[in-house]
Amino acid sequence: MTRKIDIFDTTLRDGEQSPGCSMNSQEKTIVARELIRLGVDVIEAGFPVSSASDFRAVSEVGSIAGDKAVVAAFARATENDINVAADALKTAARPRIVTGIGVSPTHIHDKLGLTEDEVVERAAHAVAHAKTLVDDVEFYAEDAGRADLAYLVRVIQAVVDAGATVIDIPDTTGYCLPDEYAKIVKHVSENVKGIENVKIAVHAHNDLGLATALALAGVRAGATQIECTINGLGERAGNTALEEVVMAIRMHGDILDAHTDIVTTELTRASRLVSRITGMSVQANKAIVGANAFAHSSGMHQAGVLKSRSTYEIIDPAEVGASGSDIILSARSGHSALRHRLQELGYTFEDEAFEKVYERFLEIADQKKEVYDEDLESIVQEHQREVASIYTLNALQIQCGDPLVPTAVATITDEFGSKHVVSATGTGPVDAAYTAIDKVVGIESDLQEFAVKAITRGIDAIGEVTVRITAPDGRVYNGRGSDNDIIVSSAKAYINAINRMIQATRSRS
Ligand code: MN
Repeated sequence: MTRKIDIFDTTLRDGEQSPGCSMNSQEKTIVARELIRLGVDVIEAGFPVSSASDFRAVSEVGSIAGDKAVVAAFARATENDINVAADALKTAARPRIVTGIGVSPTHIHDKLGLTEDEVVERAAHAVAHAKTLVDDVEFYAEDAGRADLAYLVRVIQAVVDAGATVIDIPDTTGYCLPDEYAKIVKHVSENVKGIENVKIAVHAHNDLGLATALALAGVRAGATQIECTINGLGERAGNTALEEVVMAIRMHGDILDAHTDIVTTELTRASRLVSRITGMSVQANKAIVGANAFAHSSGMHQAGVLKSRSTYEIIDPAEVGASGSDIILSARSGHSALRHRLQELGYTFEDEAFEKVYERFLEIADQKKEVYDEDLESIVQEHQREVASIYTLNALQIQCGDPLVPTAVATITDEFGSKHVVSATGTGPVDAAYTAIDKVVGIESDLQEFAVKAITRGIDAIGEVTVRITAPDGRVYNGRGSDNDIIVSSAKAYINAINRMIQATRSRS
């Protein structure tokens, strides 16, 4: 039997730190449910001291995870951070506090303004303090990739002595080459007394495009936990992509002496869900989950694949849940068929909420006849977004064409239930709709990006719009909306981004 490698997912903590990818607590619980279906071992749910909303997210993820996954909360090496993390984890059956401090020369001197001795002391104190609150304490040696090796061993020895159960050796800046990183992991595993009783974790970033290679090199060198995110979401160039390390381990488990418990058939769904919720699209040629990951276009390759898939395909698309969507429902499908399919996709609803989803399903089914899984997920997510909304679009009427002046009339309800009917003209229909929405909202924001995508096949497909706006304080927010009518999708996406901006501003104050 090969070594079991724990998959520590940090989509909800390191991942959501990407610009514009922040998720509210409700969105985090949706992702957490999918992570549970995927079978991840640890869900790092957030950084509780950073905001009330992150605190709530950690608590909520703790209560839905039960004993299915360890729920981790992030904390800097201060008593206050650690206390707040422990409070947020009260709901978790298997809580873990993740605490740590910078250990590279630039982190110690430039960022923290401390001496080497002080950092060792703080690290050990933080772990000892966390141990008084929970049993499972992970220590991260921030920027270990650029640390002095002898010093790294000294810090880690101190935290192992203080009772840490997991030691994370991150290449925080994505600086290392894989074999150099492996040497660091190996050096720690050979020079820290008692290390055989703790788990070694690797955590890498993709600044040189090496995040997956780094994690695998770390596993070969002795690590048994990989910290990663869905779609490689994360700061700058991102983190190690969960789907990539999982499939590499599945393919080369013998050489790596490793296996994971991930349900790989959920990978595609998890990827789409995270992309949809964060508004961060996945590049078409992304390994494992990109739209072209299993597409063959050269004639020679196609001929080969037709004879035997294995000629040019190392992974069966079905293994990662990418075997294409089948037509499953139509307007004639009743309540129970829809409820059943939604359950299979992992969504359950109270009766009242289900009725709303069913109504929306009928509308879509009337318009486009064949309803795919992707359509259902879009309906569900649309519904889940609405629940959290401050402004809701009730109606939108557009007049446009050549030589008309594009005009929009929008009806919008605010959180207090007041209806606003506004009209505006613009350079085009989307501009007119957005100007009308701005009149109600009254907050200036800058539209940075606007993209339309068909979710499923055919001319009647649902159009999904993603927008990216910059708030007056410079923060970036994504919004998504979907509808058969792309102008309506556009308005929904814009309102969604505005709602997120307002929610985030409130949760910070
Ligand atoms: Mn990181």
